[in-house]
Amino acid sequence: MPGAGNSKLLAAMLEAMPDAAIAIAAEARTVAANSKAQHIWQRLSPGEFLGLALRTPDILEAAAEVLETGESQSVEWRDLVPVERAFEAHVARLSEFEIPLALIVIKDVSETRRMERMRVDFVANASHELRTPLASVLGFIETLQGPARNDTAAREKFLEIMRDQARRMARLVDDLLSLSRIEQHLHVQPQDRVDLVEVARHVADTLSPLAREYRVTLRINAPSPVFIAGDRDELLRVAENLIENAIKYGSEGAGPAPAVDITVVAIAKEAVFSVRDFGHGIDQEHLPRLTERFYRVDTPASRTKGGTGLGLAIVKHIVARHRGALNITSTAGEGAEFRVIIPV
Ligand code: ADP
Repeated sequence: MPGAGNSKLLAAMLEAMPDAAIAIAAEARTVAANSKAQHIWQRLSPGEFLGLALRTPDILEAAAEVLETGESQSVEWRDLVPVERAFEAHVARLSEFEIPLALIVIKDVSETRRMERMRVDFVANASHELRTPLASVLGFIETLQGPARNDTAAREKFLEIMRDQARRMARLVDDLLSLSRIEQHLHVQPQDRVDLVEVARHVADTLSPLAREYRVTLRINAPSPVFIAGDRDELLRVAENLIENAIKYGSEGAGPAPAVDITVVAIAKEAVFSVRDFGHGIDQEHLPRLTERFYRVDTPASRTKGGTGLGLAIVKHIVARHRGALNITSTAGEGAEFRVIIPV
């Protein structure tokens, strides 16, 4: 053990560190641990074998080597209980005490790793979404240059498909750009005075041809104006995505006369904008993931309806920028309700 004065100094130094820090002696005997470390590994206790608290053989091995050679090492590992977490430890020898010590400084890198994974997945997903229509357009161009060169009927048909695919790519790029723009301004709260009722009515008007196509009746319940501090264009996007989804996905299984209820009311200090349909609804298991980028319950169905899988991700980001919340509730077979709550 370090002497009495030294052990106080060691404890104070560990405590001043921004990360979890543990000092051990030979045989992985714990000498000191700061409160951050004790909070994560509650079995840490001075005098005890470190392996009782940290069940990671790699770190014990690294510490033994560092004590012997004096060369620092880094170790990364993953804990699965109580929750999945990733840690990165740096182990260095301290030779200035009466006995050689190994100082282990541990960072929780779960969030960093999760963000890295999300970024990689996002690029992979976006590329995949673009590649499918692109491959189809290229395929048709080749057919038109070759075997179908003089076939007028085929040309008309193929050009139409190519236009649809190109539009799908354009929609995707638009949505990706919107997402990145909203993300950039996520921390700046919008300040214009916007009437949510006017926004909802405007979008309902714009979408009335789509509603007719799906034979859906849009019912608006908005007795009086509801003003909030917001960005009108973004709020139009929210209303458009939610109402369009309700028309497209909520009309199936809704019987012969499908309807969508759009409600805008102020309750206490909150504006509530709700879009409710009476279609098949969404199984509980999907609800928590619905606002993830590219997450769809039924990918082919979304694609044939012109979906990009980004609509609800955009809604979630806009609502977050307005310091609001998005609640999704659904009972299978009885439809779904998307409720946006924004402080007035
Ligand atoms: P998309 O571009 O595919 O519509 P969204 O992010 O808007 O992407 O929606 C994600 C998925 O959520 C959709 O593909 C669909 O499966 C499901 N969904 C959205 N709204 C509804 C709804 N009102 N009823 C049933 N399913 C819905």
